[in-house]
Amino acid sequence: MRTVFRFHGGIHPSENKQQSLQTPIEFAGIPPELVIPLSQHVGAPASSVVAIGERVLKGQMIAESTGYISLPLHAPTSGTITAIEDRTIPHPSGYKAPCLIIATDGEDEWQTTRCEPNYQDLTPAELVQLLRDAGVAGMGGAGFPTAVKLSINPDVHIETLVINGTECEPYITADDALMRERGAQIIEGARILSYIINPARTLIGVEDNKPEGIASLRYAARDTGIDIVAVPTRYPSGGEKQLIEILTNKQVPSGGLPADIGVMCQNLGTTVAIHDAVIKGRPLISRITTVTGRSLDQPQNFEVLLGTPLRFLLSRAGYQGSTNNKLIIGGPMMGFTVPNADVPVVKTCNCLLAPTENELPSPPPAKACIRCGQCAEVCPASLLPQQLFWFAQGNEHEKLERHNLFDCIECGSCSWVCPSHIPLVQYYRAAKADIVLHRENHLKSEHARGRFEFRQARIAREVHEKQTRREARRQAALAHNNDSGSITSPSTDPVQAAIARAKARKAGQQKPRSEPESS
Ligand code: SF4
Ligand code: SF4
Repeated sequence: MRTVFRFHGGIHPSENKQQSLQTPIEFAGIPPELVIPLSQHVGAPASSVVAIGERVLKGQMIAESTGYISLPLHAPTSGTITAIEDRTIPHPSGYKAPCLIIATDGEDEWQTTRCEPNYQDLTPAELVQLLRDAGVAGMGGAGFPTAVKLSINPDVHIETLVINGTECEPYITADDALMRERGAQIIEGARILSYIINPARTLIGVEDNKPEGIASLRYAARDTGIDIVAVPTRYPSGGEKQLIEILTNKQVPSGGLPADIGVMCQNLGTTVAIHDAVIKGRPLISRITTVTGRSLDQPQNFEVLLGTPLRFLLSRAGYQGSTNNKLIIGGPMMGFTVPNADVPVVKTCNCLLAPTENELPSPPPAKACIRCGQCAEVCPASLLPQQLFWFAQGNEHEKLERHNLFDCIECGSCSWVCPSHIPLVQYYRAAKADIVLHRENHLKSEHARGRFEFRQARIAREVHEKQTRREARRQAALAHNNDSGSITSPSTDPVQAAIARAKARKAGQQKPRSEPESS
């Protein structure tokens, strides 16, 4: 049995996972309308390649990537593009962004796609390109494009590939359901990853509160050399840095990446997306989403087409709530509330939580900090949440950065234990957004200053060049006049020369008239 290690801090919130695991994964169905945001994860938004009125087939690319950290989007089913317009997207700010709207036709007609069941015939670079073309993004966090994560510097050797199957956040069971039902796909996806990055070992970390999932994976992984490691149930063991420490006893340096210590971490749901893209030729057009909470008659895991409005999912799960009820994307610790049920499911939506008010009551008003230090005891990033809170209140950006604000994984453990009910993590999120905005503005003003200085230098250079050319012409005219023995004006300007000649003529005409007077 593999030794596992501890990370600092952590908490044990109520799990609330069993209610959504009573039935197998079910296909949620095809809603009448799909809303596909052009921006679904970190990186540049995709750019539409379809026109309003155009019929699209399932799996057809409908938007192309627009940069290195960007991915294409594909039609989740067949239908007609009816609009390209701003709609509310799943984001903590509740803002609107451009979306492609598809009126589905119910035929679910596929376009031909490319699959590579003998993927070993391809080079790792070709496989990475295939994953990029299939729009595969991380399914567990911010949705970083998988192809970018796999494109590591060739000088860096990845010793350990870690597949993150911890799913430590309360209520969420999407990965547990995948482990129970699709163990073979997970292992095949992990083997494709292993073929691409060639690590010395592949570990799949799973919290020990998922015995069925662990058994299923161990069965699927027999004879593959992939190690399924049961780790103690403790939130947030699923943080990338925390799981790496649990499995390897190595810490990712502050501000660094797992690759710095020879580790790569991928989400378990992502391995299934990789399997589907390579073996089945299926781009990322659906995902498993847990739909749970006491406002629902039948909490369960659904396979959901991307773009499905939450309203459709809620009705599938027997929603009994009213418009006053909170709807949370993600779990109760790291999730965020959405403004309405028209928001669509995107690549990163692992859970829709519809709790009753009793189940997840609004927090009482915050009181003053009593300096109890409990927040620091539970912080898995070994930060000083109390100090960060003070600095955030005072907008002291430099101090926040010096106290490693950006190492905060926003797990919410500090807020959860705080006896004064201070929403600490909200302060950190706002402070991070402020700092990022400040950096962007600084960068923009630096660019503007650079452009201004460049323009000034160009104008000065042109003036200097003009003067130099004029002087050269003047010198050339002088030299020419000297060579031809002329003592007329040195100016090469024809007007000046004409004036000089006129003056000379006038002087010549006046001279004879004055001579008699002087004689
Ligand atoms: S847990 Fe709350 S009250 Fe205690 S030190 Fe931290 S911020 Fe202050
Ligand atoms: S939210 Fe940030 S500061 Fe608070 S416990 Fe988690 S990592 Fe630490």
